[in-house]
Amino acid sequence: MKKENGIAKVISPNSLPRKNSLIKCFICGLDYEKWEYKILKDAGKLLYFQYQNSPSKHQVHFSMNCLCHECLRDVVLDELISEDRLESVVLILEGKKKSYCTFYYSD
Ligand SMILES: [Zn+2]
Repeated sequence: MKKENGIAKVISPNSLPRKNSLIKCFICGLDYEKWEYKILKDAGKLLYFQYQNSPSKHQVHFSMNCLCHECLRDVVLDELISEDRLESVVLILEGKKKSYCTFYYSD
């Protein structure tokens, strides 16, 4: 059993409340309407996540953030550098599916 450094939940377009809902990355501001996100996600081009680092610390709440995959990578790499680790394992949750993604430090 791997010990993850963070947990990222994939945001499903269907979980957005209304037909014309906007989904927006809270770091870079990249935003799309629900229907656009659904197309991009289905095409494997874009994912938005809710991310929680260091699950034991409970500092970040899933409901508080929404990150695009580019910013998720940046956030995970920033943590890795600040915590002086060489790799970071993130548990990816999508519905009932679980997978692990390992990010490596590189300079
Ligand atoms: Zn972003």
